[in-house]
Amino acid sequence: MTDAKTPRRISDWDSLGLPEMMIAGPGELHQQDLEVLGRQVIAHYGDIWTDLHAQAVDAVGRVLGADKPYVMPGSGSTCLDAAIFNLFEPGQRVVVTGTGFFGGRLMELARQHRLEVTEVEVDVGEPVDPARVGDQMKGAEGVITTHVETATGVRHPIEDIARVAHDVGAVCVVDGIASVGGEALDVDEMGLDAVVTASQKGLEAAPGLGIIGLSAPGRERVAARSTRPESWYLDLHVWDWYRREWGDWHPHPVTMPSNLVLSLLSSIQRMEEVGLEAWVAARADLAKRCREGLRGLGLEPIPAAGAEANLVVAAWTDDPGAIQKHLLEHEGIMISGGLTPAHGRSIRVGLMGRTATEDMVDRLLAGVEAALRD
Ligand SMILES: *Cc1c(COP(=O)(O)O)cnc(C)c1O
Repeated sequence: MTDAKTPRRISDWDSLGLPEMMIAGPGELHQQDLEVLGRQVIAHYGDIWTDLHAQAVDAVGRVLGADKPYVMPGSGSTCLDAAIFNLFEPGQRVVVTGTGFFGGRLMELARQHRLEVTEVEVDVGEPVDPARVGDQMKGAEGVITTHVETATGVRHPIEDIARVAHDVGAVCVVDGIASVGGEALDVDEMGLDAVVTASQKGLEAAPGLGIIGLSAPGRERVAARSTRPESWYLDLHVWDWYRREWGDWHPHPVTMPSNLVLSLLSSIQRMEEVGLEAWVAARADLAKRCREGLRGLGLEPIPAAGAEANLVVAAWTDDPGAIQKHLLEHEGIMISGGLTPAHGRSIRVGLMGRTATEDMVDRLLAGVEAALRD
């Protein structure tokens, strides 16, 4: 697909007039983190690196409320695979919440790992009902759920879902890719056995890193497996071995993308300057501004009251394409369309990264208003 307009050099991209992103992830980088990303590559071993890497892992651990999380090259889905590989064994039954597009992906992942899947249906816009999960838990080894379903912007009650899993001795695995950094979440305090996330959404860094945080019971479950997972790369014991045996030199099995890790550290440090709790509260306020602004223009939020997520605002509309097109052409802002179960009937605004500001939300709302007038 090359024509006269296709730029051949990266510097030509500026002439494309790239939009400002307010999509449902990734977010645009903050200038400070962008500069870290643009620095020279450094060795992924040795004293300097082990110190920087440890700082990054500890920073991620503070956000997750989990000791020594795993940070792996790959997208969030890499670590969804790893979590399922390490916490479950083929043939086991898991309960998965049908929260929408990403809940559906969790079912696909589980089936690919040869797990037997029981779906708990979830009404569109409603949070998962933990009692319905509890009804299906007998004989299941675990529950797998999204925290925030990015398709609908709904936040689900993971602490209560974990409780009904623990009632029958099962574990709770959470897809926190669209929540960690932007929602209150604490692996240990909430009793979550495993939480997966990624660098590019609530953590506001560049895409390319997957993350898993385990609680102590989660680690016990991994240790209690009868066989190793059928993947070397994703076997957490391999990662543990390098952390233990090569910790003072090369604390991970593979070459780490050092720039990505350092830009993630830089981003978390920026969040911590505000304080994580205050950071999350500010994002909740921003989401409310966006949501109420859209509601005022006649776009009803998809999430039920009280279940609205902080990083993704999803609202119903008859003609999402017209709004997206107008925003792109007149405001230079790119937002997301809908995904199952609201495909073709909704827009989604991502509030993450550089553009997650009141000014940008106000510009976006003015653009939506103009789109509806046209
Ligand atoms: C974005 C997202 C994913 C996919 O993450 P990748 O980094 O693209 O693998 C999975 N689950 C949820 C809830 C997401 O928001």
